[in-house]
Amino acid sequence: MEGETSRHVMVLTYPAQGHINPLLQFTKLMALKGIKATFATTRYTASAIQAPGITIEPISDGFDEGGFKQASSLQAYLNSFKVIGSKSLTELIQKFSNSCYPVDCLVYDSLLPWALDVAKEMGVCKAAFLTNSASVCSLYWYLHHDLLSLPLTPNSFPLVLPGLPDLQPSDLPSFIAHPLEFSGYLGSIMEQFSTLEENDWVFINTFAELETEIEKAMSEKWPLMMVGPMLPSAYLGQQMEDREYGGSLWNQATENCLRWLDTKPSNSVIYISFGSMAEVPGKQVEEIAWGLKNLESPFLWVFRESDTKLPPEFLSSLNDEIGVVVSWCNQLEVLAHPAICCFITHCGWNSMLEGLSLGVPMLAIPQWSDQPMNAKMMEDVWKVGVRAKKGSEGIVSREEIERSVREVIAGLSSEEIKKNSCSWCKQAARTVSKGGSSESNIDKFLQTLQKKKAAQSYK
Ligand code: UDP
Repeated sequence: MEGETSRHVMVLTYPAQGHINPLLQFTKLMALKGIKATFATTRYTASAIQAPGITIEPISDGFDEGGFKQASSLQAYLNSFKVIGSKSLTELIQKFSNSCYPVDCLVYDSLLPWALDVAKEMGVCKAAFLTNSASVCSLYWYLHHDLLSLPLTPNSFPLVLPGLPDLQPSDLPSFIAHPLEFSGYLGSIMEQFSTLEENDWVFINTFAELETEIEKAMSEKWPLMMVGPMLPSAYLGQQMEDREYGGSLWNQATENCLRWLDTKPSNSVIYISFGSMAEVPGKQVEEIAWGLKNLESPFLWVFRESDTKLPPEFLSSLNDEIGVVVSWCNQLEVLAHPAICCFITHCGWNSMLEGLSLGVPMLAIPQWSDQPMNAKMMEDVWKVGVRAKKGSEGIVSREEIERSVREVIAGLSSEEIKKNSCSWCKQAARTVSKGGSSESNIDKFLQTLQKKKAAQSYK
């Protein structure tokens, strides 16, 4: 199949880091397979994308100068993107229709469900791309199909659903656990799930071996294809030059981080990041800071500038022996460094897949959205880490941080955690290598696309 450029796959992303990364990686994979691959993102984010072998095309979300920050609310942003983005995306697909590479398939981020209508209108194949785990998506599916009704009551627990472990309230995505508080988010998720069946394919950034039960439970419901983990392929033993996604929205301090990590013994450094979106409460930040300090293990903390600040006494006590704080880095390079022994994570789905694929034991401190459910799966199903226990105010105390990091690194369960981490790391690499489940799914997709295209030109 390699070397064929007769098909054109256009990928449309929602312009947040946790969406750009997997969708951009998918686009790069298309190009690697010899397919003409176009990545469409908003004008505001397009200049941040630099990836070889693909075409980058800007479209408008109505906020070309400042992006999401310019909108008055998430709903206002999504509405604007729907109206203006539909027109802009249509024009983009039209632009290619008279070229040597008319678009054959639109792969769209499921957060932008209106793109399905654009694909239908333009007569191209359509595929949704889900950026959550299959377990989380199945829960939304059950909700959409009334197999789960909200609000849940104490009698609903434990929640027993096909393909999932028994769930308690603290395991649920926050949009399901607190539907009134997050009605806008839940509404937009339900909108995505109402049209999934209309796609030719539904891609999901996970792999069959990781979510086997869900694959069984869900593949009859949608044309589901597990194609992950979507990581730069060097980390999965493939193209050694493919070491970053290629679309960082912030400047990275990676070189400094790696130089500092080089000075540390192997398996000695704790890495902490809460991703690109979580607003970690000030009290939680303070507890993490003093918990880390008390642990007396070196740490590397990605702390994004926001209203919440690090305690000044903590900052002034830092030196190269104790730990460093940076505002952003190439997380994959850091996780792959032999000095790292534990990843304290908010359990964003990309971070989960990265930790799993690189075999790094994790400590989960989920904040919101799908993160509690990812933490549940990580601790109880994949068994590659520990979930920190929250106190009555929903904050993990400094003592609990100390206790749980020690548990991950050297506690009773640490040997099993290390063994499982190592085995998932090998499995992730097998999945994307020749004959692996995700690799085979991608090939099946491209073969079917070829057949559909041939059938259409014959008509
Ligand atoms: N990330 C990064 N540098 C950092 C922190 C995070 O490159 O310093 C990347 C990380 O590798 C992941 C993405 O940002 O791919 C965050 O996605 P995730 O789903 O984990 O969390 P979100 O930001 O969506 O909450």
